[in-house]
Amino acid sequence: MNFRVGIGFDLHRLGPNTPLTLGGIVIPHPLGLIGHSDGDVLCHAITDALLGAAGIGNIGELFPETDPALKGVSSLGFLEKVVALVRAKGYEIGNIDSNILAERPRLLPFFPAMSERIASALGIESGRIQVKAKTMEGLGEIGAGQAMAAEAVALIFSK
Ligand code: MG
Repeated sequence: MNFRVGIGFDLHRLGPNTPLTLGGIVIPHPLGLIGHSDGDVLCHAITDALLGAAGIGNIGELFPETDPALKGVSSLGFLEKVVALVRAKGYEIGNIDSNILAERPRLLPFFPAMSERIASALGIESGRIQVKAKTMEGLGEIGAGQAMAAEAVALIFSK
């Protein structure tokens, strides 16, 4: 077996009048993530982890913020496109682990739905996707509720 790993990280500012979308799930919250797409930091971190693992660039190259066609799109579409590129290189996804860095709201109840949604976009079983979350103990911009971030690692393999 040939294994490769990749790491991804993303951060977006929070602002009013936009939904909070994380892992493809809209979560009730007064503030949402500001971005050219839906600002889904978790999907963006996983997208970059998969691209890094396969050695095929990064999210900014494939899905540039200057592309008007990507305005407001669901970031689950990024995962669908990237997994096709990963498979075209002869790799399958082993597993993905991730952390969302957010002060509030409490995200634990949404983890199963996020895993299901991400797994569905990637065409794998949800048991291969782990979603976790951490607060920043009130420190920094994330701790102040001005931003959210996510980090992810992806293992891919070929036989
Ligand atoms: Mg992003």
